[in-house]
Amino acid sequence: MTLSASTLVLNRHWMPVHVTTVRQALILAYAGRAHIVCPETYTPHTFDDWLNREIADGARSIQSLHFKIQAPEVLVLSSYAKVPPRGVVFNRFNLSRRDGNACQYCGARLPLDKLTIDHVVPQSRGGETSWENCVLACMRCNNRKGSRTPAEANMKLSRLPERPDWSPRYAAYARSNRPGSWSRFIPAAQLVACELT
Ligand SMILES: [Zn+2]
Repeated sequence: MTLSASTLVLNRHWMPVHVTTVRQALILAYAGRAHIVCPETYTPHTFDDWLNREIADGARSIQSLHFKIQAPEVLVLSSYAKVPPRGVVFNRFNLSRRDGNACQYCGARLPLDKLTIDHVVPQSRGGETSWENCVLACMRCNNRKGSRTPAEANMKLSRLPERPDWSPRYAAYARSNRPGSWSRFIPAAQLVACELT
């Protein structure tokens, strides 16, 4: 289904930050929040420009009642309200990958649904939800620690939490039919690393 195919999202400095669906890419372009990048010339187009442009031979397209439009492979954001995530996005999936599905206090390896996200400096004390302040913890350790710091609870982290430096998994999103134009924006080394993980 073309609407659910993947579109690579670049920030306004043309650095890859995200992968979205063709559907969402069209919505962003239509709202004027992004330009669609031509996969042959790498020229950015507004939604209207893209709509009026001839569809390239063999390109995926979307046919609606009123128009036919080529599916965007690459999108460049017009602005980026937030600071673009450098490297790996903080989320539960990536956190569990960093911490190896193990409680960072007692070392217990557990299924993901048995692990919680612990704020090292508790949120109630201004601790942020970030790579540097969040770790996986089993429920027992999380309860024991409560709203205290590890030092106060006399608990020791197995290692200091930090932002992982592995590459975002752009390749994993569309390994089988990743558009060729993406390789212009994602360093080959990252793509290879992605394929291997
Ligand atoms: Zn534990």
